[in-house]
Order: sequence, then structure tokens, then C-alpha cells
Amino acid sequence: MDLEGFKFRDKEKADDILEELQRADQDLTVMHVCGTHQDTLVRHGLEPLLKEVGVDIRQGPGCPVCVTNQKEIEEIIKLAEEGVTVTAFGDMINVPGVSSSLNDAKSMGADVKIVYGVDDAVKYAENHDEDVVFMSVGFETTTPSIASTILNRPPDNFSILTCNRVIPPALKLILETGEIKLDGLIEPGHVSTIIGTEPYKPLSKKFKIPQVIAGFEPLDLLLAVLLLVRQKQQGRAEVENEYDRVVKPEGNIKALEAMEKVFKPKDIEWRGFPTIKDSGLELKDKFKQYDARKIFDNILEDVWETEYEEPEGCLCGEVLRGVVESEECPKFAEECTPQNPIGPCMVSREGGCNIAFRYKKK
Ligand code: SF4
Repeated sequence: MDLEGFKFRDKEKADDILEELQRADQDLTVMHVCGTHQDTLVRHGLEPLLKEVGVDIRQGPGCPVCVTNQKEIEEIIKLAEEGVTVTAFGDMINVPGVSSSLNDAKSMGADVKIVYGVDDAVKYAENHDEDVVFMSVGFETTTPSIASTILNRPPDNFSILTCNRVIPPALKLILETGEIKLDGLIEPGHVSTIIGTEPYKPLSKKFKIPQVIAGFEPLDLLLAVLLLVRQKQQGRAEVENEYDRVVKPEGNIKALEAMEKVFKPKDIEWRGFPTIKDSGLELKDKFKQYDARKIFDNILEDVWETEYEEPEGCLCGEVLRGVVESEECPKFAEECTPQNPIGPCMVSREGGCNIAFRYKKK
């Protein structure tokens, strides 16, 4: 098929791709790790189309709010309940903790502010005297802006509860455990804009798995699947970059340097996963005055010493590992809805359950 002249929303090209996939007569399972990819796949009805041509696409741990573990949620709720001003993204406010959420704490009088970015949190701290904690959640896409904020030396009353994670170690764990047999990976465009193509290469080498970095248009995803299928047919296991209009092989060097200056890797548990080596980030010692865990250790000690269960009956862990689809959870759209969420996958607009509810249930 001629891929010259590729343009968005080109029905003819989409039909050509689907025909080639049909002719390829493959039976493949692939995973992506991106909430925006999931939104595109579901919103545009690509999932059933691809199933018809033998490609089953599973969503992995691509929603940063969803993979934030229960202990981290309890940490931020505890800080709010103890009188610390807490700033967080809107999605995080409604994520259920064991017995309450940030929203519940707010309704009981805690000072919880929704912010649209770390800059808003810093501005708030600059204009107020009290301690202000920002709940820093996100993958490589958002972490550079946090790093740059810290390098610009925010006020002394500002600190962050670091819950940032990096994607490649999670992919490695998924491939190592082999819980579902994967024939290919679709890599996230946003994250890859920062990290480039290199970090994925050891995975293809070690696990002989084809990978394609993809953009967010429906045709980007169809093309990514086609490139994976072609690799499979030709016995190749490489990293291809479908999103080369944005993603450069070297990534964003300045962003990577900022992250490197501010953060160091740490082992961390992801919701639905065990502890993943070097998959989390924490502030380097020279920035410890901005580390909420160091400043408020007396408040957080209790949380650190407690084991927390996942919400009863919630299958978010399985959804995030791609083992079940959201609609297979017995609580989906019954007990669990965006208005009354049981797990984070129904709260976040990047969560599989929320996306399925918005586009399929309605
Ligand atoms: Fe959890 Fe609700 Fe999703 Fe079920 S539908 S997995 S309870 S968030």
C-alpha cells in the first residue's frame, strides 16, 4: 500500500489499511499504554473494526492517575485532613481512597484546590503564607515541567508529593511476566516526544517484540497496527516511529536534562502491579526542601506503616494490565459510574472505564 501523501481523516487510506490487515490474515494481540490512544480507539470505533481483521488491542497502564497507588492517594488525603493546603489536578480530587477522597476532605473543610498545572500551585504558594503541597502525578510528558519549576526555585512554602513514573520499566515488567501474550506494542506519542526512540530498543532486542510509536489520529493508530503486522509477517522486531512528524529519535534533550538534574529513579508499586524497579521518580537530595515526604514525615508516618487494600470488587488492576476490558467488570455502569466511581479508572478521563462509559455506555 502506498503511504505517500498521508493525511488525517482519509477514509480511502483507512479502508486500504483495513484491507491489507484483512489480507494479512493475522491473529494478534497488541498493547498500547496511553489514555489518549484509548480515547481515539473507542471514540472512533476502531476496536471492533480491528478485531474483525484479527487484531485485539488492549489498554495497558497508560493512565497516570489510574496507576497512582492506594498509598499515594492516602498520603495526599492525610495531608489535606491534617490542615496542609493541597493542590492537585481535577481528576485526582475524586479518586477514592480507602474511606474518603480529596473531595470528601474538602467538603469536611480541608483546603483542597484544583489546579491546571504546577504553575498554578506555585502562584498560589507565592500569594499565601501557608504550606502548599502539589500532588505531582504523570509520566515523562508532564515531569519536565515539574523539574523546570523546581529548578526555578519556587517559594519555601511550596513542596511536591512526587508520584511521577516512567514508562519503559513498566513495559519491561509486562513483557517479563507474560501475563498476556503480546505480539506488539504501540508506544505513546506524548511520552516518546520526550524520551525519543532509544529507550524502547532494548525491549525489542530482548523480547523480540515489534514496537511502533504512534500519534493520536485514528489513521495514526491504524497505520501503527499495520506497521506492527508487517513487522510480524517479515519476522522483524524493531522500533518504528509512525509519529515522526513530532517524535525525534533523540527526544527532547532539554526536557530530559531538566528531569535528570532534579529527579532520581526509585522503585515503586503501580496500581495493579507489584513494585517495578526504577519506574518511579523522587527529588534528588539537593532539592529536599521541596519534598513533601521529607517536610511532613511526622504526618505521613502512619500512612507509610499501613497496608491498604484496593476498593472491594474493583478490577482496575486487571484493566491496567490489559487482562480484562472495563465492561467485563461486574460493577461497570452499575454500581460504578463517573458520578459514583469505585476505582480510579472510572474517575480519570484517561481511564479505560471512564472512556468506555462515555463512548460505549451512552
Ligand atoms: Fe473499578 Fe469501576 Fe472500573 Fe470496575 S468499572 S474496574 S469498579 S473503576
